[in-house]
Amino acid sequence: MKIIDLITKDVTDENDIGRNMIVLRILYIIVFVAFLVDIILAGGDAVRMFPYKIFGLLAANVILFLLTYEMRSSMALILFITYLFTWTLSMIPCLGWSAGMQNYFIIVLMLCFFSTHGKLRYKFFLSAFVLVMRIVTISIFGGIKSVANVSPFNDKLLQITNITAVFVSIVFISYIYSRDTNLAEDKLMKYNDKLKKEANTDQLTGLYNRRRAEEYLQELKAKGFNDSISIAMGDIDFFKKVNDTYGHDAGDEVLKTVANTMKEIAGTYSFISRWGGEEFLLIFKGINGDDALIILEKLRRIMQNRVIDVNGQEIKITMTFGLTEYNIRKEPDGAIKEADEKLYLGKSKGRNQVVY
Ligand code: GH3
Ligand code: MG
Ligand code: MG
Repeated sequence: MKIIDLITKDVTDENDIGRNMIVLRILYIIVFVAFLVDIILAGGDAVRMFPYKIFGLLAANVILFLLTYEMRSSMALILFITYLFTWTLSMIPCLGWSAGMQNYFIIVLMLCFFSTHGKLRYKFFLSAFVLVMRIVTISIFGGIKSVANVSPFNDKLLQITNITAVFVSIVFISYIYSRDTNLAEDKLMKYNDKLKKEANTDQLTGLYNRRRAEEYLQELKAKGFNDSISIAMGDIDFFKKVNDTYGHDAGDEVLKTVANTMKEIAGTYSFISRWGGEEFLLIFKGINGDDALIILEKLRRIMQNRVIDVNGQEIKITMTFGLTEYNIRKEPDGAIKEADEKLYLGKSKGRNQVVY
């Protein structure tokens, strides 16, 4: 069995509880290795002096590791913290203060914050408890020399071993818990973008919706856009007849084709939105009325010549447009109303035309 399978065993889904268990199992392995190296560095003296303590604690590590498979995560956490305190406090006299066993307390601090679910108050309380334990440790053991005969070189190696184990544990704990936060944040940001896009687009045609068009005009006004802006309202002629003749679904297909044609012909020059039903608002930024008229005339001609194929049925439509220039110093509503009035003038004059 691979070590990764051993660590993730019985953790069916990586929810909080499962993740806490994985963290604890890896911490047991890290401290087991570090403690074993500690004993080897402390030498035969230490083993002769504290045989029961040393082997008892190493055995306890293995037993507690195995018990994580049988236990609830809160209980496993309490046992791990107890184990870590027991080991560090009982080994300081053996290895000496300079071995740095007291640094393992930082791991407990990290676990208090990341592995527990209680209120923040409760986490601060636990952290304060760890600090008190640390201060008590200083007052009892501060500066104590090793009772085993540890050479100065091995003493340095002991320090390196223990501080490395603490660093690795902290990096690991931070990685595991921050990875999830980052993933969640990423997901949330993508979801937010999606929602924003959905709120701005018309579902059927993929064009901007009326809400976004109004916002766009307000943005131009707020920025004090200094060049010409032309506004056109377009409406499909006799669209009701299309629905009545070919059905509502075919009508939807026609709307999609109309939207695509508008994007294709006028998309690079204008901001195109579905204003409602079969009406579209086109905003030409930086383009005066005369130039917008040329673009719209081209669009109108292409639209009238296009044959829209819906399930083998060939449908043809025409469009009427009302076009006006927008004075940015005034409210956009006035210009929209003017474009609308011109559109209806076009309707009354026989449709399929651009009125400017
Ligand atoms: P006019 O030339 O005067 O504009 O005539 P019209 O028939 O196009 O105008 P009218 O306002 O009488 O009808 C518009 C039709 O557009 C009625 C409505 O059912 C249809 N319509 C509006 N939105 C949709 C849609 O999303 N899908 C479909 N299939 N039809 C729609
Ligand atoms: Mg119409
Ligand atoms: Mg209409």
